[in-house]
Amino acid sequence: MAAVRRWPRKLAVLAAALPGAGSQGRAAAPGPAVLPAPGPTEEPAPEPVPGTAAPATAALYVHWPYCRKRCSYCNFNTYVVRALDEAAVRACLVREAQTLLRLSQVHSVTSVFFGGGTPSLAGPGTVAAVLEAVAGAAHLAAAAEVTLEANPSSASISRLAGFRAAGVNRLSIGVQSLDDSELRMLGREHTAAEARQAVEAARGLFPGRTSMDLLFGLPGQSRDAWAQRLEAALGLCDDHISLYQLTLERGTALAAQVRGGALPEPPQDLLADMYETARNVLVATGFRHYEVSNFARKGALSTHNLSYWRADEYIGVGPAMCPVNAVVPLPAAAGAHGRFVLRGEGGCSREARVQTLEPVTWMREVQSHGHGTRSRVVLNPLEQLEELLTLGLRTDEGITHECWGHFSPQFSLQDVFGEPGEARALQQSGWLVLDSGGLRCTWAGLAVLDSLLPDLLWQLQRALGAARCPPRDKEGQDARAVSGHDGQ
Ligand code: SF4
Repeated sequence: MAAVRRWPRKLAVLAAALPGAGSQGRAAAPGPAVLPAPGPTEEPAPEPVPGTAAPATAALYVHWPYCRKRCSYCNFNTYVVRALDEAAVRACLVREAQTLLRLSQVHSVTSVFFGGGTPSLAGPGTVAAVLEAVAGAAHLAAAAEVTLEANPSSASISRLAGFRAAGVNRLSIGVQSLDDSELRMLGREHTAAEARQAVEAARGLFPGRTSMDLLFGLPGQSRDAWAQRLEAALGLCDDHISLYQLTLERGTALAAQVRGGALPEPPQDLLADMYETARNVLVATGFRHYEVSNFARKGALSTHNLSYWRADEYIGVGPAMCPVNAVVPLPAAAGAHGRFVLRGEGGCSREARVQTLEPVTWMREVQSHGHGTRSRVVLNPLEQLEELLTLGLRTDEGITHECWGHFSPQFSLQDVFGEPGEARALQQSGWLVLDSGGLRCTWAGLAVLDSLLPDLLWQLQRALGAARCPPRDKEGQDARAVSGHDGQ
């Protein structure tokens, strides 16, 4: 889900881009589309490379791009369709998951996340079919976290029970607010009472594994109103809460109302105050603030999302707007994305792989080639470290020496950030810590991470040298981006 603060675009997009992040804060990717050159056949499985036979693990994200209606604040590329051929979508999700697992040679899937869109609109049979395909192509432990995002309007007890029977063991419910007037302003389909029913039903079926999303910083929302929403949420919630500051995205109905003066724009100091209030209240009630937007108690952290923040490998299946866009410019019309090593190609190149955006086109490509990959870009060492820095510092554990060493065997955290420079100044100001545990934000620093990152990235770039920047073609685009269908 979303970045809590306003970041420079590149960082905001990266932070908000993760699969499984909700639609808040998502933005279209910059850069040109790299159109696929359709290949004649589905590519064969790569031959194992000697010396790279270590079993690979990855998290797997599955995107369901459909919603019943568009919320007023959502600029995500969701699709509202009258008649959906769910069997065809299911077949494509299954086939693409099988193909990408085969290409990545991932042996073990550590977690699965069904995000959207509104994946609770999919039938439990679709969820079951995808999970069966994953379990058939790789090891999927019985205890692996399998999360489904659900909207209260499609989360009846019987439906949730169907998802549980299909293999889902964790729910993330898009409550957003427990006030009917706020829900109307947001264009949500559900009422506060329906949200309560959905959370209660979910807690009964998924005890200890029900998360709820809440938005703050709504136009006209006062400090007191937010405190009341938070109190109501605490009375309802399970052991995981995600809090997102509402982003007024260009092109949305809500942003137009604010721009036209029909609704007030929340002042920045009020937003900061709301965030600070929330984290203090949640921590006082036993939650761990383990990531900028996420809180858990009793160890109920989202292991799937942690795999993004720890820069583990992940595979993205399905069509969606690409929110990311990370450090590497990726095609504008791009969908679910992944970061994994193509072991069949030599075993050491971490790729940014993006799937096609538009569902009908994506389905056509999957039917023809086994997958709808629109673009593949091999990340250079600097780009990998930029991602690790930007994502890892979002967590309270930060970036451990071990994790950093995995991506940077030559330059330790101490080499890069221990010398006099920006990071040292941030440590002396109390925003950052570099010690035997690694590099992480202090409590105060986590709240202003967006303002720390530019300095840290600059120091990283200086330390590693600009010479490692990717080559550009004559239009200034990343010359390494290749079509997903020209090979793999
Ligand atoms: S439910 Fe609303 S906010 Fe979520 S993806 Fe659909 S339209 Fe966007």
